[in-house]
Amino acid sequence: MYDSEKVTKVEESLTAIPVAVSPIEKYREYLATRKKRLTREKLAIIEDVFSSHEHFDAEQLVTRLSQRKEGLRVSRATVYRALNDLVEAGMIRKVARSNDREVFEHDYGYPQHDHLICKSCQNLIEFHNEEISELIESVAAQHNFRITGHRLEVYGLCQQCSRPPKRRHRKLDMV
Ligand SMILES: [Zn+2]
Ligand SMILES: [Zn+2]
Repeated sequence: MYDSEKVTKVEESLTAIPVAVSPIEKYREYLATRKKRLTREKLAIIEDVFSSHEHFDAEQLVTRLSQRKEGLRVSRATVYRALNDLVEAGMIRKVARSNDREVFEHDYGYPQHDHLICKSCQNLIEFHNEEISELIESVAAQHNFRITGHRLEVYGLCQQCSRPPKRRHRKLDMV
């Protein structure tokens, strides 16, 4: 099982952007183009996924859905299929993690941002930097490349994990 503690909430610096079509409607429209219906199970999935902007993996979603009071049973296979649909529909995207676990986050209704990924605690820090975006645009322009999106992942150690171990502090205190 996954350690749910390791996927922490994102920092509050980025705020959702208003969208004309609700995630439920957008998903319904997408399914219609595939001649599929929005079932109660899929509705439960999209409601959960879009209830907060958190990074999550499929197993966490399976667990969360199984803990719902209404007792609606959503199979693991349905969750995985729905996540694939949502990626294809451009509503969520995969965020690479250093331990190869697949983590998802909203793309729809959420601003462009990049990630700092801690290799030790797996913490994800989101940021948006206008200068980086401008730099990427100028590189693309040099290649006559039309950008539809970009993704930047920076790996390393977060502030917490790059601190020296506490024991050494105590030793020094005693001197
Ligand atoms: Zn860390
Ligand atoms: Zn993110």
